[in-house]
Amino acid sequence: MRTQFLPFSPPALSDKEIESVLETLREGIWLSSGPKVKKLEEEFKNYVGAPAALAMNSCTAALHVALQVHNVGAGDEVIVPAMTFSATANVVEHCGGKTVFADVDPETLLLTPQAFEKAITPKTKVVMPVHYAGHPADMEVINAIARKKNIKVVEDAAHCMPSKIGDKYVGSSDNFTTFSFYATKNMTTGEGGMLTGPAELMEQARMLALHGMSKDAWERFKPGAKWEYDVPRPGFKYNMPEIMASLGLIQLQRLNELYESRMKMVRVYDKFFKNFPYAKILATRPGFQSSHHLYVMLLELEKLSIDRNKFIEELTARKIGTSVHYKPVHMMSYYANKYKLKPENYPVSLDAFNRMISLPLSSKLTVQDAEDVIAAVEEICQKYKK
Ligand SMILES: *Cc1c(COP(=O)(O)O)cnc(C)c1O
Repeated sequence: MRTQFLPFSPPALSDKEIESVLETLREGIWLSSGPKVKKLEEEFKNYVGAPAALAMNSCTAALHVALQVHNVGAGDEVIVPAMTFSATANVVEHCGGKTVFADVDPETLLLTPQAFEKAITPKTKVVMPVHYAGHPADMEVINAIARKKNIKVVEDAAHCMPSKIGDKYVGSSDNFTTFSFYATKNMTTGEGGMLTGPAELMEQARMLALHGMSKDAWERFKPGAKWEYDVPRPGFKYNMPEIMASLGLIQLQRLNELYESRMKMVRVYDKFFKNFPYAKILATRPGFQSSHHLYVMLLELEKLSIDRNKFIEELTARKIGTSVHYKPVHMMSYYANKYKLKPENYPVSLDAFNRMISLPLSSKLTVQDAEDVIAAVEEICQKYKK
C-alpha cells in the first residue's frame, strides 16, 4: 500500500510558471488585465482556431456573460444537462431564466440530441451542452437542431484543452464556448477562464466582463488615449488579472506536453479496465479527441456488496484521493425545490451518479500512481465481491 496520500488532481506547475509570475511582479507595471492577458487571448485563439477569445476570471463568468450577450432573462428557458457542475445551471438562474434539465447518454454522460430535442418548448432560448470529462458532445447534430429552432448554443468546455471534433478543436466553432483554468483543470491559472466565439459578439462580451465600460483599461491608459468612457449596460467584474495570464501563457505553451503526460496514465487505466468485471469506464467515440480531464469509473454495484460511498472510504483508507463528478444538478436542493424535481426524473444521470468515482488523474501524476490506484481498486473488489 502507498505510504503517501495520492491527491486526486494536483496541478502540474514547473519553474517556468513561477518565473513568469515573478517577471510580472518584478516589472510591477500591469497587475490587472494588461499585455500578458492580451497575449494569452491571442495565443489561445490561435491554438484552438477560435474566431475570437476573451480571458476571464473564471469559466462561470464566461458562461454568465455568454447568456447575458444572448439576452437570457425572465421567461426564457435554457436547456442544461442534469449531469454537470452546478455552475452551468446557476448562471441561468442569475440571468432570471428558467433552467430546463435534460438527461445524458449512459455511455458518455453527454447531453443526447434526443433529450435536447424533447426538452425544447417555444420559450427555449439557449442550450448548453457540456463536454463532459473532455469528450465533445455530438455538436453536429445539436447545432443542426438548434439552428432549425432558432436556439443559441453555449458550449461548456470547462473540461476541454485539448479536445477535438474531427480535426477541429473545441473552441473553434461559432458558438460561445467557455473554458476553465480552475486549479484542478487540465490547464490552470489557479482561477481563470476563457470565452471563445464569434468576433461580432465578443466586443459586447468584453464590455460586460468589465463593468459594461465602453473602453477597457488597456485602451484608456495607452499613450495619447482619452480617459472618457460610457457604460451602455451594467456589467460585471470578470476580467483576468495579469498574474493569472502569466501562469496561463506557460501552461498553454506546455499543453501538448501536459496532455501527453496525462495520456500515459489514461493508457494504463484503459488497459486495466477494458476487461475488469466490477466497473465500466466511459466510451470514447470515433472521430473525437477527449482531453481526458476526468477518469470516471462506474461501479457494477450488482456485483459488489458495498455502495459507491463505502468504496470511496475504502480507497481513502488506502491513501487514494478521489472525487465525484457530479451529483446531478436537478438533485441539488435549490433546483429540486424550485422546479419540483425528483432524482428519478433523469434516470441515466441518477444511475451514473450512484456508481461513479473519479480516479486520480493529472499531468503531474505518474504511471506508478495509476498502478497504485489499480491495485487498490482490485483489492477492494476482491474483498467485497458478491
Ligand atoms: C469547473 C467547471 C465549471 C466552472 O469553472 P470555474 O472556472 O471554476 O468557474 C463549469 N462547468 C464545468 C463542467 C466545470 O467542470
